[in-house]
Amino acid sequence: MDIEIWDLFGIWDLEFLCKDVHMKIKFLGVGSAFTTPEYYQSNMLVTSRSGKQLLVDCGGDIRFSLSESKGGEHIVDTSLQERSPDGEIDAIYISHLHSDHIGGMEWMAFKTYFSLSPEKPKLFMEEKLMHEMWNWSLKGGLGTIEGKCMHLTDYFDCRPMVGNGAFHWENIVFSLIKMPHIINGYRNIYSYGLLIQEVPEGPAVFITTDTQFEPGIVSQMGQKAAVIFHDCETNIFKSLVHAHYDDLRTLPPSLRRKIWLYHYQPHPDMKPGTDGFAGFVSKGQEFDFS
Ligand SMILES: [Zn+2]
Repeated sequence: MDIEIWDLFGIWDLEFLCKDVHMKIKFLGVGSAFTTPEYYQSNMLVTSRSGKQLLVDCGGDIRFSLSESKGGEHIVDTSLQERSPDGEIDAIYISHLHSDHIGGMEWMAFKTYFSLSPEKPKLFMEEKLMHEMWNWSLKGGLGTIEGKCMHLTDYFDCRPMVGNGAFHWENIVFSLIKMPHIINGYRNIYSYGLLIQEVPEGPAVFITTDTQFEPGIVSQMGQKAAVIFHDCETNIFKSLVHAHYDDLRTLPPSLRRKIWLYHYQPHPDMKPGTDGFAGFVSKGQEFDFS
């Protein structure tokens, strides 16, 4: 009996094979912690080939930026008893504990827990950060519900990992890259950037998350990554806790060409194309990594 090659696949498989789908990264926002709705805070959505979504950071703006990215500009469902924040969000990654990165976690937790079909999102984080996020930031609001004491694991499928570790999600490898963010010598705040790569093949992408200017680390990542998304401050005043545009401009041209800038202040007057960068990322811009 002859078997046609098409008989080996179902209709769905054929459609999937023909679509040539790849990992995508969408910027729900591109601004700093104190930004406006015109930019929103810098959180991203990674979409896998299968269509599942992983949220990179979950700041206070997320209720609005997530809704707007799906076409529902400023429309926020305020009821608790309907559905989870976004049924397609399968996982969340948190880079560090500033509120433009975790300020939406209480909303995300309650909204999911009290939805009609609660399904815990996976939560990937460096292990010490995960404990600190719960004990210092979230426990006050999430630690108690009527008649029950709660823990982070009641809301999320927690997947802690070591600081130089990696996690796999939907055939994508995410390697944690420790970036110095705020250093005072007594208690230093690091943010864990991500080197992201589809397996078995696909271009590597590096997202710095919040970081000081670290030319050594960025050069090292530039040898592996085809594209770099870099934290970029555009204020005249330099905070020193973020990489400033003027400092990033001193990087070698071959590295600058790979760098897309985000986490900038409203209405920057720089010309990134003229300065050899790939550009400023726009709010809502999605990158398809074929
Ligand atoms: Zn920060």
